[in-house]
Amino acid sequence: MAQQRNSEFDLIARHFTRPAANAVLGVGDDCALLNVTNGMDLAVSTDTMVAGTHFFPDVDAEHLGHKSLAVNLSDMAAMGAMPYWATLALTLPSVDHAWLGAFAKGFFDLAEEFNVSLVGGDTTRGPLSLTVTIMGEVPAGAALRRSGAKVGNDIWVSGHIGDAALGVAYRKGLLKLDEADVEEALMHLYEPIPRVKLGQALRGLATAAIDISDGLLADLGHICRLSGVGATVEIEKVPLSDIAAKHVASDVGRTAIVAGGDDYELCFTAHPNSRESIDDLQDLLGIPLRKIGQVKRGKGVSLLGPDGKAVKVDGRGYDHFSGA
Ligand code: ADP
Ligand code: MG
Repeated sequence: MAQQRNSEFDLIARHFTRPAANAVLGVGDDCALLNVTNGMDLAVSTDTMVAGTHFFPDVDAEHLGHKSLAVNLSDMAAMGAMPYWATLALTLPSVDHAWLGAFAKGFFDLAEEFNVSLVGGDTTRGPLSLTVTIMGEVPAGAALRRSGAKVGNDIWVSGHIGDAALGVAYRKGLLKLDEADVEEALMHLYEPIPRVKLGQALRGLATAAIDISDGLLADLGHICRLSGVGATVEIEKVPLSDIAAKHVASDVGRTAIVAGGDDYELCFTAHPNSRESIDDLQDLLGIPLRKIGQVKRGKGVSLLGPDGKAVKVDGRGYDHFSGA
């Protein structure tokens, strides 16, 4: 037992103890201590990634380190919050220092990019699973909630939709990608870029926001449900990369694009008066922002084809307990 404790402390000291510039106290004590700014709300979110469910078990450790933090940063982005602190709960089948070194590199490279400090965590033995909790601040009352969409609002998305899900479909053998496209699609899957700056810039502009983790239609559906509205999305307006444009005509491709997830782009609603400001934001941040539909009276999300008729899509986004 004593030896196991030693190796646990050694593991934490070796891989996960770094100066926490923005914390009163970081890794090493019973708790971290964080100083929260007056007038700000504390924003907190947790995401767990389980081998075989959220990632292919053979995935590169550095990618996994990046993604475990990126999906949490994306939640901060979707609230318009500024991320500051993270904790990491690691469950590992065995201690593999090469794997841990690569994982820590992926994690800390992204953490440094966003000035996030790792301030604590937990390390246990078991089937590989990673839980990151992220904490940040948002001016009191200014967070972007899912519940604020209004009938007549525009629906917008950032970036391109579907590349990550095409990567998943490719890895599952459901569709073929051109050889030259494989690496790029998989990079969107393995190393998504959280839209943190965009989220903050949308405060006061977006009426509701969500990050696309489970699929465009499912995540927009969450906004609709919580806002008590419906939505229409025009498939022709959904922004596609050159890769996705090659697959949108096939059933498998189209389903991956609109119902697959893992893009971590933002989907948000805004009053039509905000169109110019949102266009300016696109230039300012260098992130494509595209209007894809309208908030309507009623319930649920309808996907419309070029002829204005509803398009049926099989997949409905990832739900861990669907059918259970
Ligand atoms: P306790 O027994 O009080 O839970 P631990 O032995 O689990 O303490 O952890 C010791 C210190 O190391 C704590 O400050 C904890 O937050 C930190 N820690 C443990 N695991 C990790 C990890 N994977 N990443 C970052 N910090 C960690
Ligand atoms: Mg502990």
